[in-house]
Formats: sequence, C-alpha cells, structure tokens
Amino acid sequence: MSLALVTGGAGFIGSNLVRELLLRGWDVKVLDNLSTGRPENLTGLDAELIQGDIRDEAVLGRATSGASVVFHQAAIPSVARSVADPLSTNDVNVNGTLAVLMAARDVGARVVFASSSSVYGDQDVMPVHEALACRPISPYGVSKLAGERYLHAFTSSYGMPTVALRYFNVFGPQQDPSAEYAAVVPKFVTSSLAGRASTIYGDGEQSSDFTYVGNVVAANLLAAEAGESAWGGAFNVGCGERHTVNELLETVQGLAGDAPTPVFESVRPGDVRESHASIEATKTALAYEPDVGFEEGLARTVAWYREQEVM
Ligand code: NAD
Repeated sequence: MSLALVTGGAGFIGSNLVRELLLRGWDVKVLDNLSTGRPENLTGLDAELIQGDIRDEAVLGRATSGASVVFHQAAIPSVARSVADPLSTNDVNVNGTLAVLMAARDVGARVVFASSSSVYGDQDVMPVHEALACRPISPYGVSKLAGERYLHAFTSSYGMPTVALRYFNVFGPQQDPSAEYAAVVPKFVTSSLAGRASTIYGDGEQSSDFTYVGNVVAANLLAAEAGESAWGGAFNVGCGERHTVNELLETVQGLAGDAPTPVFESVRPGDVRESHASIEATKTALAYEPDVGFEEGLARTVAWYREQEVM
C-alpha cells in the first residue's frame, strides 16, 4: 500500500483529501500545526496526525519518512492576513514550501502543491489561462507563485516529480466559518442559516470561479499520478464558471433561507476583482473534469452545515 503525507491535513481542503485517500486504500500521515486546522476534522479517520510545523526539519523528516507522495496543503491561506502581516505569510508559504520540497526530495517522494488563482492578480484576459504572465497583487499571491517556481526548479534540478494546482475559491464541508479570515462561502451559508445579515466587501459585482472541494480533491489525486510531461507545471483547478458575489449570496439564500439585506463594506486591499479559470490545460494534462458544479456544490455545502448545526 502507498503512503501519502498531507501537510495541512487537519484543515478544510486537507481533511477532505485525507478522507478520499483513505477510501482509496492509501495509508495517510498528516503534518499540521493546528494554527487554523482542527483535529475534529479528522475524527473517525484512520490517519496518523503529527502535530508540528513544516519548518521544523526533524518533524518534517519523521513525517515524510516512507511517503511516496506529499500533498502540500499547509499554508497561511489568507490574502487579507498576508496584507496585514506579509512576513509570516512568506515564512510559512515560501520557506515552509522549500523545506517540504527538500524533505520530499530526500525520500524520493513526489510533491503536489496547493497553489492559488491569486498568482494571476488582475488580468485583462478572462478566463485566465496558464500561459499568461502572473502579476500577483497580494503578498499571499507572491508567496504561492514563489512556491510554484520552487517546484519547477526542483523538477529541473533534481528530476523530481512535482505538480502545482492553482485552486480557485474553494468551498465545501469542513470549511471554518468562524476563523478571523474566513472565506466568503462558509460565512454566507452560516449567516443565512442563522438569519443574520451577510457582509459584502465592495458592490458585490466582483466575481469568482467558486469550486466545490470534491473537484479539488479529484485534481490532487490525478496530479499524484501525472506523467512526466506535467512535472514542474502549474494548472488551474476551477469549475470553469464565473459567478458574482451577489449571485452567490442569492443562491445560498435560496438554499439556506432568506436573511436580512446584506451589509456593504469597502473593498479589501489585495482582493482580485474578477477571477475565472480556463481549465483546458488541466483537462489535457491531468484528465481533470469538475464533476460537481456551482449549484450542486452549494446544495451539498448548505446541507452539511445544516446537519452540523454550525451557525
Ligand atoms: P486551512 O486553513 O483550512 O488549511 C491550512 C492548514 O495548514 C491548517 O490545517 C493549518 O493548521 C495548517 N498549517 C498552517 N501553517 C502550518 C505550518 N507552519 N505547519 C504545519 N501546518 C500548518 O485552509 P484551506 O482552505 O484548506 O487551504 C489549504 C491550501 O489550499 C492552502 O495552501 C491554501 O493556501 C490553498 N488554497 C486554498 C484556497 C481556498 O479557497 N480555500 C484557494 C487557493 C489555495
């Protein structure tokens, strides 16, 4: 049986990935410092949780030992937090990724990296595709681009299999609605379920390619098996659709129940106005297909929060 290490496996995306890996017969270790992740996300899952930091060489050595694939999800995952504190974002997302790459290289493991649509910044062309020049506008976007470039350099320098996946606004079960820098979908869902007003930053006409987490998990599994032509590459993982934040709230309220009129606040620095993925290259290179669309994904997400009574 193959052994996978999931860094950040106690977080939202990581724990969804751990669940699917176990279902497919992998042995799984998780390395997580529980800064934003929660051990409860792994309840009932037969994965070994190593509590520690990806920048700690000794703990990383223990975590990577025996692994054939490292799914590197650990990061400080927030644009707003990177604007408030660029240095800690750089330290975890860039130095941490470099440490993970070195440890994976030393045990002969492949690395699949959680990159982000934020590497694109504001672009004139929509949908954004991988041949465009990246122009990140937040420290977070820069940190993810640096991670991608390190993967590429490790493939070139050491012949190591690496694949970077540029996630577009991921949502689904286990996403934390209460974190200081929580994402928009869990905030809208939990406010709507509780009958509270949601907050929209800007006019709500900014748009995103909201992507159900099951699609992101599937892309990770495909990347873990990708042939040499994909190594060192970075690929969009979106749904290939674009929805405004106002449309998102309307759809969520249709599923979760009506809530008071939203509160509009000023745009946050670092937020990209328009984000829409071309997924053509990912289809070709990884045989990726987003199986769960925007509305179906939101329906599953609302059902999950309702069941958990997280409001
Ligand atoms: P999350 O906060 O739920 O997960 C991140 C995990 O990393 C947490 O469990 C946290 O405790 C852990 N972690 C943070 N710093 C660590 C460190 N130094 N050592 C060990 N563990 C550490 O966030 P998420 O949304 O699940 O994000 C997972 C990955 O996907 C991140 O790399 C993020 O940047 C990337 N991503 C997420 C989205 C999205 O929409 N959620 C979009 C693009 C990219």
